[in-house]
Amino acid sequence: MRRKLIVANRKMNGSIPDNRAFLEGLLMGTKDFTNADFVVCFPHPYLFQAQSMLTGTPIAWGGQNMSRYDHGPYTGSVSASMLIEFGCRYVIIGHSERRTRGHDSDNSVGERFRAAVAAGLRPIFCMGETQEEFEQGLTDLVTIRQLNTLIQQVGIKNLTDGILAYEPVWAIGTGKAATPEHAQAILHFLRGYLILKDPVVGREISILYGGSLNSRNAADLLSMPDIDGGLIGTASLNTEEFVEICQTANSFVVCEC
Ligand code: PEP
Repeated sequence: MRRKLIVANRKMNGSIPDNRAFLEGLLMGTKDFTNADFVVCFPHPYLFQAQSMLTGTPIAWGGQNMSRYDHGPYTGSVSASMLIEFGCRYVIIGHSERRTRGHDSDNSVGERFRAAVAAGLRPIFCMGETQEEFEQGLTDLVTIRQLNTLIQQVGIKNLTDGILAYEPVWAIGTGKAATPEHAQAILHFLRGYLILKDPVVGREISILYGGSLNSRNAADLLSMPDIDGGLIGTASLNTEEFVEICQTANSFVVCEC
């Protein structure tokens, strides 16, 4: 059973009053939505606020990155066990903004996945090609390379401890979402690849699409059979728009494949 999952990536945005208004609006707006799951990933200082406002509600929360280490001399880093202390159930790893600007390598992302699962978090593993790679027709090659590095590090059977997110770099924050057909084709390809390796994992794993998903294109993207939900940046900064996306996700019947 793959339920739609909508994840807000609030990036480095928000403030205590702004988060409060967002979460109040989200709790009110989604209170009758039982067909889909919702997660909000906050900057680390606001996890305490998320914990105090969301504990006991159906909305889960998470971090946007974590260290592969549990503790030690890693100035500015946050460990999986610290995220757990603040009630997180999820953590985004390998976001392209960190792979490029934070220099996260394919290998270190795999180590983060392992460390997250070991601590009890569900990692959301991001992968996707750059504009240049897209233009050169390298999408399949790049995503499979990223996925294979993960599989080598964690083992195929453990992949379902996390969630995959296909996020073409050229679509992130640009307002230029992938077409539903393109996103579906890549997710179908990735799922097919996983099914060949392990049919149960391939069928059960949740794969999200991320990249300029908004209230106008949500229905077309989320109606695709291999798209199990969305990772949403810009549109999660507007409460009404984000609730609309959650409503769209909630309107789809759960896939029992
Ligand atoms: C993201 O950063 O994960 C993302 C999908 O951003 P946006 O929705 O703004 O493209």
